Amino acid sequence: SATAPVSLSQAGLVLRRISHSFSGTPALRDVGFDVGAGQVVALLGPSGCGKSTLLRAIAGLLVPDRGEIFLDGQNLMSIPARKRSIGMVFQNYALFPHLTVAENVAYGLISHRRPRAEVNARVSEMLRLVRLEDYARRLPRELSGGQQQRVAVARALAVSPAALLLDEPFGALDRALRTELQDEFVRMQADVGITTIMVTHDQEEAQTVADTLVVMNAGRVEQVGSPEDIYDRPASLFVNRFMGHANCFSAKVTGAHTAALAAGPTVTSARGFAFRPGSDVILTARPEHVRLVAQNDAGAISAKWVRAAPLAHMLSVDLITPDGTLIKALVNRHDGPRYAPGDAVGILLDTQNLHVFPAASKT
Ligand code: ATP
Repeated sequence: SATAPVSLSQAGLVLRRISHSFSGTPALRDVGFDVGAGQVVALLGPSGCGKSTLLRAIAGLLVPDRGEIFLDGQNLMSIPARKRSIGMVFQNYALFPHLTVAENVAYGLISHRRPRAEVNARVSEMLRLVRLEDYARRLPRELSGGQQQRVAVARALAVSPAALLLDEPFGALDRALRTELQDEFVRMQADVGITTIMVTHDQEEAQTVADTLVVMNAGRVEQVGSPEDIYDRPASLFVNRFMGHANCFSAKVTGAHTAALAAGPTVTSARGFAFRPGSDVILTARPEHVRLVAQNDAGAISAKWVRAAPLAHMLSVDLITPDGTLIKALVNRHDGPRYAPGDAVGILLDTQNLHVFPAASKT
């Protein structure tokens, strides 16, 4: 929690109650979480939620109005950026254009006045790590975007920082290359095991590379948890909708575990919800928790089939309810009857997996 005392021996990154405003407008509000030594945390959230501001504060490029940052037990607040043992990689790589790949990677070591033999050995090691041994003499402009990104990572790691900050490192790359570099990062991380915070707005990327996700919204931390926690047990409607699709239904609580959907049927939620009968709530269901049945099945919400697209062995189906709400369902591709656009179908919600939020928690 934000007020837990910090033991000075705690390894990894510890952020406590960081707040910052730009000209009176808050960009970070009481942000606090831990990154265990060697762990990868993905910082996620919509544009403008404060991700880059937080990274800049950790790197020492910005002094926050309030809060504390510890790295491997050391309080960083009085330590200037260049003396923090932190490597950074940004979206635009910012390699030195007139230096070769090897010279780029060597740069930090040379400015730390390391002996030549050590520099050469370390550069070879880093280029091996990012699989660019054969590109040492090239200039950045002679590399692809993905290769430049790997050089930037090698350069950041060459000086053996205690932590690595990555700001949308794969953001500028096409999807195939992105996936390849994510896998490469996972492999590299298994090798070096460096305490890392990666900013991304891609939830799939976060789930691929990170041990822990931190979801931010409007300068605040909404939820910290494992990828599974965040997906299966979202703490707010915002997190539910941000991480994967959530079908939303307006409903009124009718009993201890029941709610009547505005769309008609009453559903029973197994996830006990502490709402007074009569409360307005929003029920959410993931596409994989929507089942298609015959239109006149008991308890079915009526809908029209709009379109479908294959997704691996599943079929992603768009449906529309009479009140105009679009519902997404993920169904087994080879099961059940075939539908055509305009066909009437019934929808059943998998009540074991519904989430309930107060109706006021609009995002
Ligand atoms: P994106 O995903 O678009 O990069 P972000 O989550 O990284 O967004 P930040 O760049 O941290 O968001 O910005 C947080 C808020 O602070 C935004 O409202 C932004 O406009 C504001 N902000 C950031 N830097 C400055 C600055 N130097 N001066 C004034 N306002 C700033």
